[in-house]
Amino acid sequence: MRENMTDVNSHNVIMPVLFIGHGSPMNAVMSNTFTEHLSAAGKAIKPRPAAILVVSAHWLTTDGSYVSTTPKPDTIYDFSGFPDELYNIVYPAPGSPATAELAIENAPYIKQDPSWGLDHGAWTILKHLYPQADIPVCQLSIDYHKPMSYHFELGKKLGELRKQGVLIIGSGNIVHNLMLIDFDDNAKPFDWAVEFDSWVKSVIDSRNFEDLLSYEKMGRSAKLSVPTVDHYVPLLYTLGAAGKDEPFEYFHEGFDYSTLSMRCLKAG
Ligand code: ZN
Repeated sequence: MRENMTDVNSHNVIMPVLFIGHGSPMNAVMSNTFTEHLSAAGKAIKPRPAAILVVSAHWLTTDGSYVSTTPKPDTIYDFSGFPDELYNIVYPAPGSPATAELAIENAPYIKQDPSWGLDHGAWTILKHLYPQADIPVCQLSIDYHKPMSYHFELGKKLGELRKQGVLIIGSGNIVHNLMLIDFDDNAKPFDWAVEFDSWVKSVIDSRNFEDLLSYEKMGRSAKLSVPTVDHYVPLLYTLGAAGKDEPFEYFHEGFDYSTLSMRCLKAG
């Protein structure tokens, strides 16, 4: 299990931390501004990460946080009703048991999952960030029953991995409402979606991250933007893993289908 550790520990540069608004799985096979920005973001990260840890909205657990430990993760097609071409994509990156081990060293209550592969919150974005699929990837699950503060605090602990060459990526969407989605490509975002997304950005810019743990205080716009917490929580890991004074850069922003904020950010 320790064979990757030399690679992981050989980095003396602190890796950045990202949050990606992943949107529709179709982005995996599309070429648009979002995918161009992802591809540019991947190229801009120097040096090459030794490994990647993805906190995806699509791996939810209810009895604790898990890290994937499989050395050969399968590509998981955890969606339905999409064209065949999406089900034919394989993202053959190796797993990273060494990263899982580092995560557990920093937060010993994390459990191991030897079978979870790469869900679409991970592979649809990694395909653009690192198309060669040659960087080992580990995933962390989201314990759905935990309070927001738990996720933020765990993000802080995992931030330590950045010093060991691990690129941390939260993958979700700041605004994500599938009930009110409008699949028209030219659909304009709802006012409440713009309001909530702008509020989150302003809180991040003012470094009051803890305000985001009680996002419900934003009332109606929060209720509609975060009808369930799965896509919001990955942001808290990214913010937790960022240094106290590290500025964030927004390398993509905008909305898809009225109700998906595609905002992406990077620190470090
Ligand atoms: Zn999603």
